[in-house]
Amino acid sequence: MKIQNGRLVGDGIDHVESPNRGGRFGEGAPDTIVIHYTAGRSRQTAVDTLTDPARRVSSHLVVGRDGGISQLLPFDVIGWHAGESAWEGRTALNNYSIGIEIDNAGQLEERDGRFLSWFDQEYPEEEMVRGVHRNQTEVTCWHRYPDEQLQVVGDLCGLLVAEDGIAHILGHEEISPDRKVDPGPAFPLDELRRRLLSPPVAALTKAAEAG
Ligand SMILES: [Zn+2]
Repeated sequence: MKIQNGRLVGDGIDHVESPNRGGRFGEGAPDTIVIHYTAGRSRQTAVDTLTDPARRVSSHLVVGRDGGISQLLPFDVIGWHAGESAWEGRTALNNYSIGIEIDNAGQLEERDGRFLSWFDQEYPEEEMVRGVHRNQTEVTCWHRYPDEQLQVVGDLCGLLVAEDGIAHILGHEEISPDRKVDPGPAFPLDELRRRLLSPPVAALTKAAEAG
């Protein structure tokens, strides 16, 4: 997988243009990735929503549960995924960020031993993760992200950090904490940041040795 002219090239990637977009990013942007879950049924329903001119929402990428990727916007164009948002003195994070939507049903309601999404689909227990959301205090239930999907999201973030000047990886729940809980505690956001944004000492030493 690589980036050519603002587009991903590689196996398992399809391109669908979303009409929901701003202009080109300003100087020095994008420097941030915002991670989302779709809170939906499938990658296809997410792509349908994020390319529907009536919905006025979009993201640069959608990652399916099988690790397949849909790119909806080139990386040099502003998407409409973050909405009202703020982080470290900035507002309107759309103007600074690449949006990655991950196919995931979101928070699940536990009812009589069953696990139901907000759209009333039942998920088996092995697809459920319990965790405490960073903005909450109670243990609640969340839809699991399959390993192959997490692998692809990690690869995408690594590629964007290496080739596109990305220096920050944030969850929607961090930039819009009053109204958003995605990607939630089932997503290893802190681990991803540690791995991609703060190189471990061993790697730094190795790089120094390599000259
Ligand atoms: Zn979101």
